[in-house]
Amino acid sequence: MCCGCAACKQRCPQQCITLTEDDEGFLYPHVDSDRCIDCKLCERVCPFLQPRKGQKPLHVYAAMHKDEIIRMQSSSGGIFTLLSEHVIARGGVVFGVRFDEQWEAVHDYTEKIEGLVAFRGSKYMQSRIGNAYEEVKQFLKEGREVLFSGTPCQVAGLKHFLGKRYEGLLTVDLVCHGVPSPKVWRKYLHGLKPQWTVANVQFRDKRLGWKRFCVNIQLCSPTDKSDIITVSHPFHEDIFMRGFLSNLYLRPSCYECRAKKGKSGSDITIADYWGIENVLPERDDDKGMGLVFLNTEQGYKSFPHSLSLYTETTYEDAVKYNGGINENIRTLHNRKRFFSELDKQCDTERLISEHLKVPLYKKVISRAKKMILKYISV
Ligand SMILES: Cc1cc2nc3c(=O)[nH]c(=O)nc-3n(C[C@H](O)[C@H](O)[C@H](O)COP(=O)(O)OP(=O)(O)OC[C@H]3O[C@@H](n4cnc5c(N)ncnc54)[C@H](O)[C@@H]3O)c2cc1C
Repeated sequence: MCCGCAACKQRCPQQCITLTEDDEGFLYPHVDSDRCIDCKLCERVCPFLQPRKGQKPLHVYAAMHKDEIIRMQSSSGGIFTLLSEHVIARGGVVFGVRFDEQWEAVHDYTEKIEGLVAFRGSKYMQSRIGNAYEEVKQFLKEGREVLFSGTPCQVAGLKHFLGKRYEGLLTVDLVCHGVPSPKVWRKYLHGLKPQWTVANVQFRDKRLGWKRFCVNIQLCSPTDKSDIITVSHPFHEDIFMRGFLSNLYLRPSCYECRAKKGKSGSDITIADYWGIENVLPERDDDKGMGLVFLNTEQGYKSFPHSLSLYTETTYEDAVKYNGGINENIRTLHNRKRFFSELDKQCDTERLISEHLKVPLYKKVISRAKKMILKYISV
């Protein structure tokens, strides 16, 4: 039930906790029991051992950044950039997730508007948080404003780690479907065209529309750097996205998340406003609409109302079309088998694809259900 937020490692006064990757590719803490003084601080800062109560938002907005270019570079409405620009303009610091040199997700911070470019857009794998909580604390102690963004468990971990309220801190979490294994991503990416290097990854390319977004991966030839190809698929045909959205390789704790549904304690939650075409059809241009939950007074005050295009809507409307907000993620029946074959099978794309096939008995049951329903309605 460890969510991998690393609050325990960063809080340990003995520095006797290390994080190591398990066979599935997720980081877990290991305690050096010779150095441990049994202070239990690691347990007290764990968001899964000390879960919070859920909170309902004070306000719910459909909102977007006014700059269309920024919105197109963002996963939904560009609200992360909107909030961050406001903090940086006042001399603050923004924590977010960027790709590292291996195209894996890592937490980092920036004090510059240009630095936000790398944080824009979703990276669909669990990020490595490093010492981000310690760095947040340091900036806050210096009197700086800090915006920390991450998954609900990362925000919950930070709040437990800090242990008290800081005036200058704004926490922003995402509605989170769950985090895929970095190892599966690594193997998938490097198996696409062995020897070729990755030049760019974009999980949410909206050129064909926000609702029909594509996953783009640019690969560079080993012999000629100017020879670049783009592997691009609509999300519902992209094998990595299909495995992610079918819950094949999420972190085990995601299936019983104790930080989503308003339990992270974040000031603001951001997501896609799926279903906007039904709720506010006149506002939908298919370039991305953000869903914003203002959970606290601090969140309400920090939202730059005059700089955004926003409309107040209801929690019920938002939840109706966005399953990620409240639904529990169900484990795929063959998840265990998938991971047991991961190291044996070189072709990760094929392995994912094979495990997404619906077994015959399920097809038969589904067909039978349809026939019975048809029969009853006649
Ligand atoms: C793993 C994951 C699952 C998600 N699941 C859902 C869902 O089920 N439903 C839904 O409506 N929205 C989901 N989102 C959120 C959505 O994709 C957008 O991030 C959100 O709508 C904000 O978009 P934006 O346009 O405001 O900003 P963007 O510029 O697109 O947002 C970037 C923000 O996402 C953060 N981020 C990117 N990758 C990661 C990561 N790996 N870990 C932590 N933070 C990250 C950045 O730090 C930044 O804060 C998910 C995001 C991630 C990363």
